[in-house]
Amino acid sequence: MIELKAIKKSFQTKNGTINAVNGVDLAIKSGEIYGVVGYSGAGKSTLIRMFNGLETPTTGTVSVDGQVISSLKGGALRKARQNIGMVFQHFNLLWSRTVIENIMFPLEIAQFPKALRLKKAKELIQLVGLEGRENAYPAQLSGGQKQRVGIARALANDPSLLLCDEATSALDPQTTDEVLDLLLDINKRLNLTIVLITHEMHVIRKICDQVAVMEDGKIVEQGNVLDIFTKP
Ligand code: ADP
Ligand code: ADP
Repeated sequence: MIELKAIKKSFQTKNGTINAVNGVDLAIKSGEIYGVVGYSGAGKSTLIRMFNGLETPTTGTVSVDGQVISSLKGGALRKARQNIGMVFQHFNLLWSRTVIENIMFPLEIAQFPKALRLKKAKELIQLVGLEGRENAYPAQLSGGQKQRVGIARALANDPSLLLCDEATSALDPQTTDEVLDLLLDINKRLNLTIVLITHEMHVIRKICDQVAVMEDGKIVEQGNVLDIFTKP
């Protein structure tokens, strides 16, 4: 269960204060695929970055499974983050490392022994369908394959929450559908909670259970995807 309470986030710029997120309350149930949709500049990216402490709210609290992420710092925050995977639009892979090395990287940081890292990475390679590409470098992969590596890496520490920041926005429509099918499969198999942000309604319709529509730092509509899209 994830709860955001009375979240505001302002940035000071030379042109004054920007309220990127301006009073958001959200409750996300375990196992749900929850989508936040909105135009560019709505505050989606700032919002999702508060789920794992990449941004700290100016006011309000974020809690994940009862733990208040927004007040953690240093080692405690790093530890909590191991329970929260993240997937990015531009993959953020390590270009000088192979597929399997990229997937093992978070396990290296968490100081797992090498044999365990290899075992886990091989399981993840199967889960995301990259068998045979273990020793390729990211530059040799298609966009969809790169994102499969990104997803596998995000799952390395067995997180209970996966955050997707425009995870399919750099992919063509067919590859987008393949990656969304993979996310749906992982959600079901691992009972993993997924929170995603997107500017594409198609993504919401295809895989989300719940949706929040964001505009100008606020949630203007929220509910079950079927209800929201069948309203007159
Ligand atoms: P979205 O992800 O929906 O495109 P963002 O969260 O990226 O929206 O941005 C929301 C608003 O906050 C925008 O006006 C953006 O320019 C501003 N913003 C985001 N991050 C910063 C920052 N670090 N400093 C100043 N303004 C920011
Ligand atoms: P995308 O293809 O998703 O748009 P980018 O091209 O923006 O991703 O790459 C993300 C980062 O990786 C950038 O900093 C970019 O300079 C770097 N990068 C991209 N391709 C390579 C490559 N073949 N070798 C090394 N670094 C690369």
